[in-house]
Amino acid sequence: MKLLYPGAVGPQVQLLQLALLRAGYPPGALDGVFGVKTLNALRRFQRSQGLTPDGVAGPATHAALRPWYTGYVRHTLRPGETFYRLALRYGSTVGAIELANPGLDPLDLRPGGVVTVPLSFAVVPLEIDWCSPLLAFCCEGLRARYPALRLGGIGAGVLGSPLWRLTLGEGEGRALVNACHHANEWITTPLLLAFAEELAQAMAWGERIGGVDARALMEGRTLAILPCVNPDGMDLVTGDLTGTAAYARAGAIAASYPEFPFPAGWKANIEGVDLNLQYPAGWEEARRIKFAQGFVSPAPRDYVGEAPLSAPESRAVYNFTRSFDPALTVSLHTQGEVIYWKYQDLEPPGAREIALRMARASGYAVEDVPYASGFAGYKDWFVLAYLRPGFTVELGRGENPLPISEAQSIYPDLRAMLLEALLAVEQG
Ligand SMILES: [Zn+2]
Repeated sequence: MKLLYPGAVGPQVQLLQLALLRAGYPPGALDGVFGVKTLNALRRFQRSQGLTPDGVAGPATHAALRPWYTGYVRHTLRPGETFYRLALRYGSTVGAIELANPGLDPLDLRPGGVVTVPLSFAVVPLEIDWCSPLLAFCCEGLRARYPALRLGGIGAGVLGSPLWRLTLGEGEGRALVNACHHANEWITTPLLLAFAEELAQAMAWGERIGGVDARALMEGRTLAILPCVNPDGMDLVTGDLTGTAAYARAGAIAASYPEFPFPAGWKANIEGVDLNLQYPAGWEEARRIKFAQGFVSPAPRDYVGEAPLSAPESRAVYNFTRSFDPALTVSLHTQGEVIYWKYQDLEPPGAREIALRMARASGYAVEDVPYASGFAGYKDWFVLAYLRPGFTVELGRGENPLPISEAQSIYPDLRAMLLEALLAVEQG
């Protein structure tokens, strides 16, 4: 997290405001503007923590806020403390604490031992703009609450941000869902992580998700989630990079394309390569089409790059897919409420039926991709390479970037579609 002070703006200010609200110090609107209310809330928080109430969020303040960024506390046990007392103290539950600490015996707690205590709010926020620090907090927060959820990385973006991977389930029936190939479609990241949270929670408690028994659903199946393929692009579009050298470089690229608003119209990675035009499936044809449209060098969108998989983000997704060997993939984009399922004339066995079930569950349309957009995407490559069901889902309606206020209304349709996709994977 950056040093945040009065007058600062952006998604990290929103995250600070959210954390203050969660901690019991309401900062007014979660508007990403560090004004008087945020200042007063921050000072009260700092006083409560024994910090100098200087109204500036630096390393010590961010460290103190960490439980309200991640959704859990690491508590060092004192003599006589029990899970019950910790639950009362932190507003948690004994069950949630037991779940997060499978290695601890509640009847044999030793002073000095460390307990993970989940807090009472959902880890994944759907009310603020996103940035890569929030992405990291959420991945760590979900892993802390749900030890059955495995967390790892598949590589890093151009600026070094981790490309996270979350995995649920142990079965041989493997599905892969990815989000945010395109920068200004970053709303797909919180939406997919919200699904991961709901599924992990339902698995842990033996509950239903969208009417489906979560444990039965994940019996014999494994779900890998790549929540953000383009973290630098997300940070650019939401304003987290504003004022940096990377922002200036992207701005210089965008200056040649005044028809696209900057940074709101940016789809590419931070170097101006469209990550969903990078896969080895008709890449030369994509290049011919996009060059003819004028995208011959780094651009806010539609530049295919110097070669297939030349961008580290697309290469990481490709390599992970090869090693994971999924039976089915879903790629989340925005917008249009459409499901795409073919690559040119290739129709993987069963794919059409699954697409129709996803459409029935969500009200989305099943369509063929227009010819000029029909090459070098992730779904195109997956269908071509494996002849297995691979889908591109365009979530929501409106103009990209869809505002985060759309997330609550999009989520039920996404959940319904992902459940249909998972159910279609043969258990093994
Ligand atoms: Zn897209």
